[in-house]
Amino acid sequence: MNAREAIEADYVIVGAGAMGMAFADVILNETDATIAIVDRGNRPGGHWNHAYPFVRLHQPSSFYGVNSRPLGSDRKDTDGWNSGLYELASGAEVVAYYDQVMHQQFVPSGRLTYLPMHDVDVAGVDGLGVAATSLIDGAPQQLSARRRVVDATYMNVSVPSQRAPKYTVAEGVRHGPVNDLGTLTHPADGYTVVGAGKTGADACLFLLRNGVAPDSIRWITPRDSWFLDRARIQPRDFFEETAAAFIDQYRCVAESTSISHLFELLEEAGLLVRLHADVDPTMYRCSTVTQDELEQLRRIEDVVRLGRVREITADQIVLDDGNVSTTPNTFHVDCTADGLERRAAVPVFAGDRLTLQTVRHCQQVFSAAFIAHVESAYSDDAHRNTLCGVVPHPDAATDWIRTAYGNSLNSAHWNADPELTGWLARARLDGFSSAEPPSDALVTVMLGALDHAEPALEKLAKYVAELDSTH
Ligand SMILES: Cc1cc2nc3c(=O)[nH]c(=O)nc-3n(C[C@H](O)[C@H](O)[C@H](O)COP(=O)(O)OP(=O)(O)OC[C@H]3O[C@@H](n4cnc5c(N)ncnc54)[C@H](O)[C@@H]3O)c2cc1C
Repeated sequence: MNAREAIEADYVIVGAGAMGMAFADVILNETDATIAIVDRGNRPGGHWNHAYPFVRLHQPSSFYGVNSRPLGSDRKDTDGWNSGLYELASGAEVVAYYDQVMHQQFVPSGRLTYLPMHDVDVAGVDGLGVAATSLIDGAPQQLSARRRVVDATYMNVSVPSQRAPKYTVAEGVRHGPVNDLGTLTHPADGYTVVGAGKTGADACLFLLRNGVAPDSIRWITPRDSWFLDRARIQPRDFFEETAAAFIDQYRCVAESTSISHLFELLEEAGLLVRLHADVDPTMYRCSTVTQDELEQLRRIEDVVRLGRVREITADQIVLDDGNVSTTPNTFHVDCTADGLERRAAVPVFAGDRLTLQTVRHCQQVFSAAFIAHVESAYSDDAHRNTLCGVVPHPDAATDWIRTAYGNSLNSAHWNADPELTGWLARARLDGFSSAEPPSDALVTVMLGALDHAEPALEKLAKYVAELDSTH
């Protein structure tokens, strides 16, 4: 197959998912650089193109997407279990949004070349050269960057429809990824949801919302999770509550006397919530729920805590720590994909390479936009990396401490830099920025928080050292 003419641009971005798009948007808006963006998928938006049909954002639409273009209409839900809180875009809306960003903004700018359906051997990227291969006809396509190659694939997101489960499933068992719940052609006797994360919770809520009786649902949860209460992470009209929650975090850390005491205080303050008071969560992945959703999930009594599933046969589910029976007409729902896996942090800025990672606790799109701003506004990589300390995606419950610590260190650098605080105040992707001006009452609370900030940072450093010494 003949190679096509090489493409040259200031930045070559590998990955047109949410992070690659958020990065490109800021570069296009804040510099005059040119971009080539290459992706193996046929549409921008990455994993959203493979998500289950009833997926929605877990956070308000108002601070997701790319910085320059609003997502959704900033309304509050008036019905359902998110009622009273800001809207959560559906997967279809998110996919349509990225398509519009690409084809109504990026490509018409004349400064961006979009190359879908091309695979890149990311590990083999050499300096400023990127070798891509067309997935349509196998033609090689060479790209070369004048400034940097941007790896927007590093977070390695996977959703259940993209890979087989890690357990075996016998012939004839009704089983499928969570996506299949949206295309069922005949009812099942009951449903077994495998997976304790947000996707598992979403599957249970989908079934309950569609009238399935709670005693027809079994939920296999190898680990219990801490969740964030979505009501505490709302923008605009909720500014005071959200700011108070932020301040409360510092207070809880400062007042805690041990790691276990810290989690007690976080729960007391309503910052972390769990499914069942008598089961200690060992997982924390930034999933959000509302109190109404929690109430619904608690209606499911058949919660199986026997470790991970190893095998599903016609009449048995074999788990690490025991077996439970099943039936041929039970539908087994695979919700076990990792979503965002835990990856070792690497420096964001490293010579020819820029690796997009999270620099604010669980805020991937904000992080990609922020990194692009730092790339365009600063000139020294060492300084850029100081501003962009990586805050890896959490997995274990105690990772709450590591992410809070990483966040606090980054915030201290950002707050000391008026250029950055100015940018943050205007950034749509910063959930706080678009808030109403703080009231006098809030200013008082904010000042009160300063009392907690320094002791909290010291305490977090101590807890992180404690965790490091035991791992
Ligand atoms: C169900 C679900 C809901 C979520 N909800 C939220 C939310 O509400 N708020 C939030 O902040 N985050 C949410 N997240 C986290 C979300 O994953 C991130 O916000 C973000 O979408 C991650 O984007 P990404 O660009 O890193 O990954 P992806 O979306 O996976 O994009 C990576 C892109 O790189 C491409 N690619 C990968 N390897 C190659 C290769 N070798 N060659 C060419 N192309 C390649 C892929 O095709 C893909 O398009 C959610 C995640 C899931 C799974």
